[in-house]
Amino acid sequence: MTTKYNICLLPGDGIGPEIIAEGVKVLNAVGAKYDTEFACEESLIGGAAIDAAGEPLPQATLDAAKAADAVLLAAVGGPKWDTTDPNAPRPEQGLLGIRKGLGLYTNLRPVQIFDALAGASTLKPEVIAGVDLMIVRELTGGLYFGKRERFYDEEGAGTNGAKGQRAYDTLEYREYEIERIARQAFEAARKRRKKVTSVDKANVLETSRMWREIVHRIGETEYPDVEIEDLLVDNTAMQLINRPADFDVVVTENMFGDILSDEAAQITGSLGMLASASLGDGTALYEPSHGSAPDIAGKGIANPLAQILSVEMMLRYSFDMNDAADDIRRAVTNLLNDGWRTGDLKDATTPADKVVNCAGMGDLVVKYL
Ligand code: NAD
Repeated sequence: MTTKYNICLLPGDGIGPEIIAEGVKVLNAVGAKYDTEFACEESLIGGAAIDAAGEPLPQATLDAAKAADAVLLAAVGGPKWDTTDPNAPRPEQGLLGIRKGLGLYTNLRPVQIFDALAGASTLKPEVIAGVDLMIVRELTGGLYFGKRERFYDEEGAGTNGAKGQRAYDTLEYREYEIERIARQAFEAARKRRKKVTSVDKANVLETSRMWREIVHRIGETEYPDVEIEDLLVDNTAMQLINRPADFDVVVTENMFGDILSDEAAQITGSLGMLASASLGDGTALYEPSHGSAPDIAGKGIANPLAQILSVEMMLRYSFDMNDAADDIRRAVTNLLNDGWRTGDLKDATTPADKVVNCAGMGDLVVKYL
């Protein structure tokens, strides 16, 4: 009997609609092979939702996402909605809102080198050889969700006048929030090379000292087979460039993880290749790590591989379809080895007839499947 899964599609803005179409193409091809129907339905998020409904995350979208078996998102944002007005709706609020609404407290960002693209990295080949790491970022707590305020007072003005602006953001964690992200990291490490690097700023921040204590308690009592390394966030920023192949699983606070995962992404040199998964205790969400690339939106030249690799993660983490996920990874690896490139991946040695557009790359993945 055909298995059926309901997928909530969130194309969002910029190149979003172009790349998600290729993700669906690949999903359908895999479904046909594995006797699985993926029933996809689109909802609004980000700037597209602000334009249509006045808010970046309409309730109908959150309801559709909650009811689905998995959510496939492309990207949100663009200059049209850029504003410094703290009261105006912003596309990114849609992302933060859906993460919170679905209880997605874990963001997994794998960083792996495709041999055929090793030349795209700005790092030396011997430094990036064998890089295979996973950033586990806490997603619903920490600095991005703490209390914040902007106001005027005498202190804000300094020596210049009666009143000036002041602002603060708060970094706060509860014990259970650290326990559950630590468990996700140790579980991931158990399926990999059994090493967790816990990243904090324990020499300065109280939240970090608590983070370190809890990660060690969970690790030592529940995962004694997994090695724990502590690293300060500033040192991690250096070591990721210095010895990236030494890292297995890296677990960290929300903002640290935001920054470090972008840095880790650059190890590959190919933003268009990096997928991510956001997991909680219910419906999970899968998306590329890059943004909506407004500079190339509508041209049909975006690289859909990060979106397609987020479909791979969906098959693995939401549906346990590991063979199908392996098929996608193999197809992508093989077509890259055969020299196929989108515009962002090509270099001086790429023949013109090996450069394909967005839809062309989606077709190639299906062909190699
Ligand atoms: P970006 O990732 O959109 O683009 C950075 C550069 O990489 C651009 O030159 C772009 O053309 C290129 N690029 C990105 N993805 C590509 C792809 N698949 N194929 C080919 N080239 C690709 O980052 P940005 O320019 O800083 O942000 C643009 C908008 O995206 C902003 O509004 C930002 O807020 C938003 N954004 C959204 C997300 C998200 O939805 N998760 C993440 C980051 C940024």
